[in-house]
Amino acid sequence: MAEEEYMIRTEQLTKLYGEKRAVDNLNLEIRKGEIFGLLGPNGAGKTTTTLMLLGLTEPTEGRAWINGRDCTREPIAVKRMVGYLPDNVGFYADMTGRENLRFTGQLNGLPKEVIEARAEDLLNKVGMAKAADQRTGTYSRGMRQRLGIADVLMKDPDVVIMDEPTLGIDPEGMRELMELIRKLATEEGRTILISSHQLYQIQQICDRVGLFVEGKLIACGRIEELAAQTSKEGSCVLETAAIPNDAGYGKLLESLSNVDRVERKGDYFVVESHTDVRRELNRRALEAGYTIAHLRQRGDDLDEIYRRYFEKGDEKNDGIDSGKGKGFLPRRKKE
Ligand code: ATP
Repeated sequence: MAEEEYMIRTEQLTKLYGEKRAVDNLNLEIRKGEIFGLLGPNGAGKTTTTLMLLGLTEPTEGRAWINGRDCTREPIAVKRMVGYLPDNVGFYADMTGRENLRFTGQLNGLPKEVIEARAEDLLNKVGMAKAADQRTGTYSRGMRQRLGIADVLMKDPDVVIMDEPTLGIDPEGMRELMELIRKLATEEGRTILISSHQLYQIQQICDRVGLFVEGKLIACGRIEELAAQTSKEGSCVLETAAIPNDAGYGKLLESLSNVDRVERKGDYFVVESHTDVRRELNRRALEAGYTIAHLRQRGDDLDEIYRRYFEKGDEKNDGIDSGKGKGFLPRRKKE
């Protein structure tokens, strides 16, 4: 792939605070129009990475580029292309949503007509048209977050970097927010970097994720790839329910090849096996007249993948991922 197709790229990016390696040799390549989730627990180095990409702090070693422009040497060019949504967006509380957007437009040197038209368009897009002329001091967190996205888009950035965009948003608001973020990439071709420790929400919209721990990228790739890497050697756990969800269905589950254990837990049967039994289950259930009402392979979600990477951290591999889809584990420090 040609270099310019990578919208965000870092090479051995490192930041030391005294002895502390906040970011340690980070190699990352994010394509144009991709939604990438940088995931990790508190203190993993996500914010420090973001600050280096925004040209707000200098790397100790290594380099970072956005659309081919060096984040440290060309910070102004980079800032023009990047919109940043911090985890707690600040607005002028006694100004309305629309006035805040106008102000951002002015700061970015946009002509008056562009500001008015764009603000109107964005307020509609983020579902804030009704509250547009209300003071932002009266906004809920979810409303501030939506206005924050509109605010970031005022300068029409190619890249949007978001810090914990889903924090404190209710489930309904979350769905809308996720859809909105998704469209920014799929319909508008923007590149989105989301930094978060909210694994569950993020996995629903990210094309790829990077798992970041103690300054190191321990794994990077599509969620299915990461799941496949960790489940290959482990056991499979399946959650299922059928209509009727009776003892006969339990017996059928027990009779599947390579099943070690079946246990009824509330509305579901939990099936432990040493291979993936879903295909056989589908066939056998159909033959026996059962309709499968619920079927989920546990471990395909990020929480589980994350946990498994940690569990296996002691076992092998001291490599650092290249950001191209292979998963490697850091050697854990001996306590
Ligand atoms: P969170 O999810 O809590 O925001 P994070 O992944 O964003 O965490 P960073 O804020 O990048 O993590 O911090 C990475 C490490 O660098 C932490 O150990 C933190 O204490 C340290 N650190 C960050 N900023 C500074 C600073 N200005 N001076 C000294 N140490 C710092």
